[in-house]
Amino acid sequence: MKPDTKNMELQTKEGVAFLTFPSFSAYPFVRHAFSTRIGGVSKNEFSSMNLAFHRGDPDGNVMENYRRFCAAAGFGFDTLVSSAQDHHTFIRRVGRGERGIGFRRPKDKASVDGLVTDEPGVTLVTHYADCVPVFLLDPKKRAIGLAHAGWRGTAAKIGAKAVAAMVREFGCDPKDMVAGIGPSIGPCCFEVDRPVRDVFAALTELNPSELIRADGGGKYRVDLWETNRRTLMEAGIPEQAITVSGICTKCNAEWLFSHRASGGKRGGLSAFLALTEERAE
Ligand SMILES: [Zn+2]
Repeated sequence: MKPDTKNMELQTKEGVAFLTFPSFSAYPFVRHAFSTRIGGVSKNEFSSMNLAFHRGDPDGNVMENYRRFCAAAGFGFDTLVSSAQDHHTFIRRVGRGERGIGFRRPKDKASVDGLVTDEPGVTLVTHYADCVPVFLLDPKKRAIGLAHAGWRGTAAKIGAKAVAAMVREFGCDPKDMVAGIGPSIGPCCFEVDRPVRDVFAALTELNPSELIRADGGGKYRVDLWETNRRTLMEAGIPEQAITVSGICTKCNAEWLFSHRASGGKRGGLSAFLALTEERAE
């Protein structure tokens, strides 16, 4: 099976497969990756690169998967900082002092759906299985952000909140920023009922009639990718600087974890984003 990776590139190192955005790979001082199911040690529904703790897979397996992933994709395991996602929109600024949170040391804060930093050697890590990963980079100010946008976070514009945090914390200009909308449930598969449809229909400034399709029988399909893309453009990121991966997790559940495809019996994917410590000009 050769996965169709649309607008991302599939890299395989040491048996570990991961996805990257060409627009981020263009910057030598940035390292980023989105995981796949390929190259880990976990079994059954967690097979094999499960990067989610506390879903029934032994912690030792998940830890080993992180070690393998980091070795293959070029992240220092000791530099990882995990989010604490609960579908709200709080964005946390982290630095070297937070390294190891969620890995070598326990999480110290609840409700962190986005992480930003301008410190090299700090790897932001957020967690997925259908929700939308939003990657952000300001190559001028050398600042980065990752945001977890489920349907609630998408409707609450967490992408724009992460951009605003980077403007406030690091003096970023959205006009300089680059964004990537990663693998997640696509408009092909994200079916919702009326109450969720109504939340998106209320986003009148984003032309919601173009984001929602009625399937009949009280069912609708919502385009989370396009909602996030328009949110980032509204926040000031140029259209040509935003890449939508186009990869649906539910359509590709053999090699990506999908909550909906698996009925919730599944492992997790992670997004990784770091500024590297060598600042070669
Ligand atoms: Zn799909």
